[in-house]
Amino acid sequence: MTTRRAFLLVAVLCLAPPGHLGAADLPIFDAHIHYSQPDWDVLTPERALGILAGAGVRRALVSSTPDDGTLRLHAKAPTVVVPFLRPYRSRADMGSWHRDPAVQAYVEERLKRGVYRGIGEFHLSAADADGPVVKRIAELAAQRNLFLHAHVGDAAVERLLTLYPGVRILWAHAGMSASAATVGRLLDRHAALWVELALRTDVASGGTLDPEWRAVFLRHPDRFMVGTDTWVTSRWESLADGMREIRRWLSELPPDVAERIAYRNAERLFPLP
Ligand SMILES: [Zn+2]
Repeated sequence: MTTRRAFLLVAVLCLAPPGHLGAADLPIFDAHIHYSQPDWDVLTPERALGILAGAGVRRALVSSTPDDGTLRLHAKAPTVVVPFLRPYRSRADMGSWHRDPAVQAYVEERLKRGVYRGIGEFHLSAADADGPVVKRIAELAAQRNLFLHAHVGDAAVERLLTLYPGVRILWAHAGMSASAATVGRLLDRHAALWVELALRTDVASGGTLDPEWRAVFLRHPDRFMVGTDTWVTSRWESLADGMREIRRWLSELPPDVAERIAYRNAERLFPLP
């Protein structure tokens, strides 16, 4: 290292606020990982866990289709993987799970393992939010203090929160298309709602943090998490790049807010068992 570079490094370290990590070193809790069947042939559990570790992801919320992938990762790294039970035995369940008694039986049976911290990620429309299988799954979540990880629109998330007030919901992708203003309004109204930002490139399109998102993060610093969504195997390959982009916009926030969104919020909600 040249003297000049060493000097700059020391200067940067001295300027960093005490007690806070620089954004480039922020540990990450990734709130949206899948390790589904197509991934298994390409990535051993060790390799998948190595990708997470290499990207500075120290813990991750994992679900998969079918659920065995989650259990395999969890068995290898129980202090890294926060297992969620996905109600899909195969991709074919995605559109019909909410009215399928066989899925309900599958969920009830698997929950007996006692390792899960939530149920999801699942897809659902607002019209189906009061179906009997959804009702039963919400009841199980309330009884066992499990989160629901819901990939739904803003109308459906509000309906779930209203129908099942005893259940905490992690809103996948911030509703995918909901605006920062809508997300902020829902967070104002519902204390049982948390939000993860997987695939939300609009948070920092062009590399700079969007001012509307920034305002919502500052208003609700305890309610957001980041995530990747490895919904196809190729997403694993770009995971480290995605984390670099996330750390870049996190660096534009006050360090304590950046730390909460990067990992502290999730680690508070999912403490090590
Ligand atoms: Zn997903």
